[in-house]
Amino acid sequence: MKAQLTVLGSGTSMGVPTIGCDCRVCLSTDPRDKRTRPSVLIEYEGHAVLIDTTPDFREQAIREHIIRLDAVLYTHAHADHILGLDDLRPLSFHRNNGKIPLYAHQDTGRMIRNVFRYIFDSEYKYGGLAQVELHRIEGPLHLFGAVFEPITVVHGDAEIYGFRFGSAAYLTDFSTIPEASLARLEALDLLFLDALRHRPHPTHSTVENSLCIVERLRPKRAFFTHICHELAHEETNASLPPQVRLAHDGLKLEFEI
Ligand SMILES: [Zn+2]
Ligand SMILES: [Zn+2]
Ligand SMILES: [Zn+2]
Repeated sequence: MKAQLTVLGSGTSMGVPTIGCDCRVCLSTDPRDKRTRPSVLIEYEGHAVLIDTTPDFREQAIREHIIRLDAVLYTHAHADHILGLDDLRPLSFHRNNGKIPLYAHQDTGRMIRNVFRYIFDSEYKYGGLAQVELHRIEGPLHLFGAVFEPITVVHGDAEIYGFRFGSAAYLTDFSTIPEASLARLEALDLLFLDALRHRPHPTHSTVENSLCIVERLRPKRAFFTHICHELAHEETNASLPPQVRLAHDGLKLEFEI
């Protein structure tokens, strides 16, 4: 089945440009150096599946003319991946197939329930709530004829999820990938990997580390994401092998799901 992946956001938690910064990347006029918080949209056969709801979701949805969402998958509960949940509201009203299902690991679901207590509180009396329901991920998810397989990655001290769907995989926010997960990432056409910057970071991968993973897994094409303001788009791409590129907001790719 043919599918399209749209990069809604390719930036790290603070976004690029970063508030209060006047470095050359934050001041760059290259639109690919403008990075909203990290998220992708996967569309196939008239369905749309979103990975993470960033604080920039509203802006991303308007930019990409998102008019429907059939499911949301969460990688983990850090602020840059969940805080746009409330902006699902307009897409969650007037659906003819019930609430929008949100799929997350049990711990992530618990955090989402805490942060957005009012949404899940039956006592809340002000109306206008996002019509969503949380489901626990307990294995591969079968959604509208495609399979989304959770892939465990290590993000500092925490284990979180990336996802493989057909010939593509999206792994944001990791410092290492366990052997058992690497074994499930063979024969990919598209591989998205965290690559925050060149300098080491305790909870994120670097360009160098992610290049090693690409060398090992040999996907047809790899894209780096969750990028901070230390990497200029054009200049960094010029230093990468041809099958590896920095992702950028608005990038669209076709693949088999
Ligand atoms: Zn993040
Ligand atoms: Zn900057
Ligand atoms: Zn994170």
